[in-house]
Amino acid sequence: MSIGDVTSGPIGASHPPADAAALGRLADVAVRVGLGLRPGQELVMTAPLDALPLARAITECAYRAGASLVTTLYTDELAALLRFTHAPDEAFDRAAGWLYDGMAAAFRSGAARLAIAGDDPSLLTGQDPGKVGRANRARSEAYVPALELIAGFATNWTIVSAATPAWARAVFPGEPDSAAVPKLWEAILAASRVDRDDPVAEWARHNGELRARTEILNTRRFAALRFRGPGTDLTVGLADDHEWHGGATTAGNGIVCNANIPTEEVFTTPHRLRVSGHVTSTKPLAYQGTVIEEIRVTFAAGRITEATARAGAEVLRRVLDTDEGARRLGEVALVPHSSPISRSGLLFYNTLFDENASSHIALGQAYSKCVRGGLGMDEPALVERGCNRSLIHIDWMIGSGAVDVDGISPDGGSEPVMRDGEWAR
Ligand code: ZN
Ligand code: ZN
Repeated sequence: MSIGDVTSGPIGASHPPADAAALGRLADVAVRVGLGLRPGQELVMTAPLDALPLARAITECAYRAGASLVTTLYTDELAALLRFTHAPDEAFDRAAGWLYDGMAAAFRSGAARLAIAGDDPSLLTGQDPGKVGRANRARSEAYVPALELIAGFATNWTIVSAATPAWARAVFPGEPDSAAVPKLWEAILAASRVDRDDPVAEWARHNGELRARTEILNTRRFAALRFRGPGTDLTVGLADDHEWHGGATTAGNGIVCNANIPTEEVFTTPHRLRVSGHVTSTKPLAYQGTVIEEIRVTFAAGRITEATARAGAEVLRRVLDTDEGARRLGEVALVPHSSPISRSGLLFYNTLFDENASSHIALGQAYSKCVRGGLGMDEPALVERGCNRSLIHIDWMIGSGAVDVDGISPDGGSEPVMRDGEWAR
């Protein structure tokens, strides 16, 4: 799943979808399904400047739902780029720690969190990878107080998306903004299930299907999953007492939320020491303004021993050097190749979408809720069960219509889980 980030937003004027009612429906789903916002609750929202119409629609929905205060932090990608062009070299080890501390304080005092995604996937392509790596690292470190509360579901939170011109240009290259932006909106609205008559009911049905799938996997209690496909033969050992999750989550404050809109995945936590074999990514990974393509990685005893990429290799190398846990897995997720997002045939260059079109793994931090009783567990207990710890959590896609997945039981027996990218049963 995707945690999102405090990002900087794109440049230029705002572009709502042609149908203003659709924007209202997306806002409604964000507040009612995504957040489950409680009357009297505060909301802290982050949004790119280009998402202003959606941010305002969400603000309206939130107040109608009884929000006590909505605070939105708007971000600007042009300003982020100006830093890379003009700031002194020593600036790239700095991050706005005070901002993330403030967000953490808000979450601790009961505020919900909403992030609107819409970043330019290749904003920083062409910038010095050393500076990009240092800036990412400084932000990751400063973000820890907020990230821990988000990853641990201390409060209810969600991420939704807005079509921005820079993002639309990446998804529909060569098309003018006037064509690309509405097309991206259409894809976002469809994937977010707000193109239906009753989106809230549709989400209840979808959550029920995901829950049924997690129940099957939780009953099977596999010791490992084995992925096989072109360039891939990877065995992902699962954490002891692992639990599969998908769809709605009950946060620590008792509120049921859907953290990612859209979502098509069921996921759990690998065992940090029990991953072996090799794997090739099946889609490019857009990470903090850099597109990393054709990742090939070898694991031994849970740790990446070799990593290459056709593009963005230097940024990938620096990501892997973030900390000890950055070379180990914190998530494994299954998504059928026929998922609606995959069927759209689009490459979104946005993890929130691309991870929901494909089975995937994530480098870095594990979700404590993915082991039984994990939400209240301290760090040594989580590590004991095999949960990985890291400053990063980066999903990348390893599934396709050519990938088979087997479940390996504790006695070594094997059974089909997915065939040609689809559920085997
Ligand atoms: Zn995921
Ligand atoms: Zn993830």
